[in-house]
Amino acid sequence: MFLLIASWQAMADDARIESLKTQLASMSNDDVASVPVLLELADLYLYQEPALAEEYASKALPISMQSEDDYNRARAFRLLGMASMYLGKTNEAFTYLSQALSAAQNTEDAHLLSICNRSVGVYYELVVDYDNAVRYYIEAIKHGRLSDEISDLALVYNNLGNVLNSQADYSEAIEYFKKSAAIHRRTKNYAMEMNVTNGLGVSYLKSQQYDQALALFKSVLDNDEGIYDFTYSEASVNLAHVYQALNMTDEAISMYRHVIEDPRGGAYPQALASAFLGLAKLYTTLERFDEALALYRTGIVEVKNKTSVESEIALYESLAMLELKLGRYEDAANTQAEYIARRNTIQPVTQAGIIKKLESQLKTERELIQLQEDLLQREREAQHSWFFIFTSVVISLLCLVLFLALRLRQQKLLRLEQTNQSLLVASETDPLTGVGNRRFLDRRLSTMRTTSMEMAFLLLDIDHFKQLNDTHGHDVGDDVLVRLAERLNTLCRKEDVLARIGGEEFVILLPNVDEQASLAFAERIRESVADKAFYAKAPITVSIGVAVGNTKSACFDDLYKQADIALYQAKSDGRNHVRAFS
Ligand code: GH3
Ligand code: MG
Ligand code: MG
Repeated sequence: MFLLIASWQAMADDARIESLKTQLASMSNDDVASVPVLLELADLYLYQEPALAEEYASKALPISMQSEDDYNRARAFRLLGMASMYLGKTNEAFTYLSQALSAAQNTEDAHLLSICNRSVGVYYELVVDYDNAVRYYIEAIKHGRLSDEISDLALVYNNLGNVLNSQADYSEAIEYFKKSAAIHRRTKNYAMEMNVTNGLGVSYLKSQQYDQALALFKSVLDNDEGIYDFTYSEASVNLAHVYQALNMTDEAISMYRHVIEDPRGGAYPQALASAFLGLAKLYTTLERFDEALALYRTGIVEVKNKTSVESEIALYESLAMLELKLGRYEDAANTQAEYIARRNTIQPVTQAGIIKKLESQLKTERELIQLQEDLLQREREAQHSWFFIFTSVVISLLCLVLFLALRLRQQKLLRLEQTNQSLLVASETDPLTGVGNRRFLDRRLSTMRTTSMEMAFLLLDIDHFKQLNDTHGHDVGDDVLVRLAERLNTLCRKEDVLARIGGEEFVILLPNVDEQASLAFAERIRESVADKAFYAKAPITVSIGVAVGNTKSACFDDLYKQADIALYQAKSDGRNHVRAFS
């Protein structure tokens, strides 16, 4: 039925197709603006030339995918799905229609959601899964109610009516046909109203309410100018069925003949097949067997590839049954063989087809369940990943804050330590000469105590320093102190400890050194200072007292006292001397 509705529409839209093709010719292949044009073309070709519709829709699909345009993506998928369905590619159709539906769900566009759900329903109707068909039609109705296009609702009511007729749920079907017809009446779509009225008539016919059915089919045929050819064709054959049911044999025969012989009467192949079948059965009951056999055979040839397989198979089956009944076993066998051969090539409802269809239905259900599971899984993953991202961000932020806090604290501690260190250094340094002071000396001495070794303690005092100050001034005195510290520093080894412990008194600790070596070292100092080159402005000499001991046992006071005694000895001996404590 869709086939013919749309073919009628498409023919009316020939001019539109031409204009769209002209528009398309001026566009580049990946132009986003070409998407609506391609889709409209696909839509217009859908029923008339599904292969072309498929072509246009598949061109639009990648562009709409790229531009993340869910609205047109859904349309492209729907058109691909419908085209595949009409091209007999059932599995592909399902995949596309599912995608169409999920894309449509992103848009919240009621019209789109309605037609996509309706298309999925049509798919299920095709695979004779009426429960699912009804489910999706009901979805389509839900969205159709919110859609601006009122015909959405009328079309889906009609679909639902047909599927309910197939399920023998006639009273429900009648309700939907009535609703659909009312909408078409409101929108003054007489042709569609009559098409729906025909469906309504079928409900009455199948529920054996022949009087209502008769009245309805007659009313449809009354204004035959304003109705589609296929509505005319269907109403005609249905009227013939009603006549037959009412035992109005002559009227039935003439009506069946009209459908078979008149081009408009047989415009709808399904109706034509139904007429061949109906008339042949009628002839059979009238025992006009040869005419019946001839009708079956002509019917098979006439409807081949034009209608649903059910009709063709019904003709084959009825023919074979009649041949058997008439004892024409060879004919029956031939018919059976022909039927089996045909059955294997046609889709979808043969006995093998039914099994196949049940299989594909099961597969479809599995796919649907799989799809739903996938969707759920993806949703879960998405939630998971959102949760993951969220917690990651929070944890990262916390880590960053902690890190910064730690970093700050570390820097603070470092600064504090540096401050402490410099304070320590400052507290152990003699500000004038830059060498260590008494505190420094004490600390170094206590660290030396950890290992046991020989050591020397040199106490050095500048001779007649007071006099130098008095003669040359305090600045010169300071200058001499600085020079002396520098000189001592250059003479000392790395492990030696130099400190200024009083006005012009220095101490040098010499670890790992015996008395002899320490005296030699002291002598080197004395000579170095006494040398004229040491200080040009005035002759400078130093006296040095040396004491030796062990790092572990010696105490500062003892060493100092002993070195001081030796120093006193050096001074007493005339200064500029080195003396050891003995
Ligand atoms: P002696 O040979 O007996 O050691 O004679 P001396 O003059 O060096 O005697 P004493 O050790 O008593 O004198 C120390 C003098 O050193 C006293 C003070 O004027 C001077 N002095 C102490 N500290 C400083 C200082 O930092 N700078 C200067 N320029 N002079 C200082
Ligand atoms: Mg002194
Ligand atoms: Mg002195």
